[in-house]
Amino acid sequence: MQQPLPEALEVSPSIWKFTLPIPFPLRTVNMYALIGEDGWTLVDTAMGTPDTRAAFEAGLQKAGLSIDRLRTIVLSHDHPDHVGLSGELHEQSGATVYMHPIDANNMRNHWQNISPERFSHVSHFFRQHGMPAGEPWFSQASPDQLHHIIRVPPFEALTLVEDGQYLRLSGERYRVIWTPGHSDGHICLFRERDGIFLAADHVLPRITPNIGLYSEYDRANPLGDYLDSLRKVSTLPASIVLPGHGEPFKDLAGRVAEIIEHHELREMQILTLLDEQSQNAYQLAEKLFGHRLKSNEARRMAVAETLSHLEYLRIHGQAEQHKTTDGLILYAPA
Ligand SMILES: [Zn+2]
Ligand SMILES: [Zn+2]
Repeated sequence: MQQPLPEALEVSPSIWKFTLPIPFPLRTVNMYALIGEDGWTLVDTAMGTPDTRAAFEAGLQKAGLSIDRLRTIVLSHDHPDHVGLSGELHEQSGATVYMHPIDANNMRNHWQNISPERFSHVSHFFRQHGMPAGEPWFSQASPDQLHHIIRVPPFEALTLVEDGQYLRLSGERYRVIWTPGHSDGHICLFRERDGIFLAADHVLPRITPNIGLYSEYDRANPLGDYLDSLRKVSTLPASIVLPGHGEPFKDLAGRVAEIIEHHELREMQILTLLDEQSQNAYQLAEKLFGHRLKSNEARRMAVAETLSHLEYLRIHGQAEQHKTTDGLILYAPA
């Protein structure tokens, strides 16, 4: 897959896209600088690996921006490659940090008090769906290293925003659109004046965003949420879509239709596999994503994605769950 090279570009008047390298399969993440008369706004904050920091520095220089004029940070969702530098940038600039309450709360649970109990809870969730035990990606980093890569502002320092609220960012008005699915508290920003749509990870070009069920504490039907959130944005009069990964594009409705079709095909594939035999989410994930399951993190994402489909089918009365005597959860056609 062709990904953009790390670079900084003015993608629309006074809007810069910084494309930064990240140590994940997507390889790069975008952050956007919205530049105003008296200061600027940053939408998402990548993470603090050395490569990312160097690319961010170079981007700031190219765009002529300095951290002391950073007034506002908007965090689209709580994933590490979008929030990693937010704590540090908030400390350095005193910028207001906006986020949806659900992901603000998850961010506090994930990155502020990283606890062994939480890991064991998450691994239990995945084990009952058939996944072999394994360590999370960040367990190889020491707490100090991790703190340098991902540091978020304290929960109390965040300003929480709701669906439909308008934010004044660098002198322009943006509407917050809550788009649960890729994460429960994911938000997009829409500028009605000219149709600028900051989509973050809700609508991506070429790849379909990961939609997964990661624990029993999350919203119960992430795929149902996601499809609703896609329909919610598909009719926006967007002039350009600025995604969290990959290049900006114009045809929002067309891309939404493709992603919906992808999920419909996947539903049919899963129903066909379930018709052959009852099985757990891990067995299904191996059949659906076999080539992708090279690391523990990739396996976890594949199982979570498979589960979001299985739960969608179950909630719609097309599949059911059974618990085996050894505590595994199997799915069968209803
Ligand atoms: Zn994400
Ligand atoms: Zn992302």
